[in-house]
Amino acid sequence: MKARPPTDIAFVLQEARDKVLARIQHAASTRADFTGLASPQLLAVSKTFPAESVLALAQSGQRDFGENYVQEAVEKLIACRQANPALDLCWHFIGPLQSNKTRLVAEHFDWVHSVDRLKIAQRLNEQRPPELHPLQICIQVNISKESTKSGIQADEVPELALALIKLKGLKLRGLMAIPQANDDPSAQTSAFAALRECLLAANRVLGPDDQMDHLSMGMSADLELAVAQGASWLRVGTAIFGRRVVQSTTDADSTN
Ligand SMILES: *Cc1c(COP(=O)(O)O)cnc(C)c1O
Repeated sequence: MKARPPTDIAFVLQEARDKVLARIQHAASTRADFTGLASPQLLAVSKTFPAESVLALAQSGQRDFGENYVQEAVEKLIACRQANPALDLCWHFIGPLQSNKTRLVAEHFDWVHSVDRLKIAQRLNEQRPPELHPLQICIQVNISKESTKSGIQADEVPELALALIKLKGLKLRGLMAIPQANDDPSAQTSAFAALRECLLAANRVLGPDDQMDHLSMGMSADLELAVAQGASWLRVGTAIFGRRVVQSTTDADSTN
């Protein structure tokens, strides 16, 4: 047994990350060849955890971090930048986005996974600082057709995608979904497969330069099922950082 000081948070997080990476790797090794889709990678969801946790996990090589509360995220990413200016982290916004918060997201994030309205996309486009690379965008789809969930219906995706590709401050990359929580793996699998079908259908109306290559789907509990259906961004919080003690009012909308 390796000695492990109980306070060494970087070590604990690295172990948890290694386990998640092994799960992703194993699922990826048996998945079908989905031509045109990016390979699975880990998006560490650090919401409710402090900048210290992000910096500690970054020591193990993790670069992509997901957040879903704007104010909390911006404070955290600025703190990380100040603590280690050389560390080049990639920040993904994955939560519900109100129009009065778009500027902060346009100025500070690299990706937004939760675009579900043209108006939000237009604001992000106008507010994206021109010296930054285009903001990478996923359209959120309400794949389980839940009345309480964010996201557009699958059949609305091609129209929104065609509008988004005209916005030069943005780069449309793919689709995101949070399927209804379900203990039945086959129901989860169908939801993930439906999101992939939705991406393929939308790609048919998009030109060669605008093809989407990312599926943001799968969380701590169901990431293997998501990888098997073509997931590229695995949004994993609990399995890395542990249980969230702080709950936010928007959690109900963005997680289940
Ligand atoms: C919190 C959150 C996650 C992470 O969920 P875990 O079950 O903790 O892995 C993934 N996606 C979104 C949109 C979230 O808000």
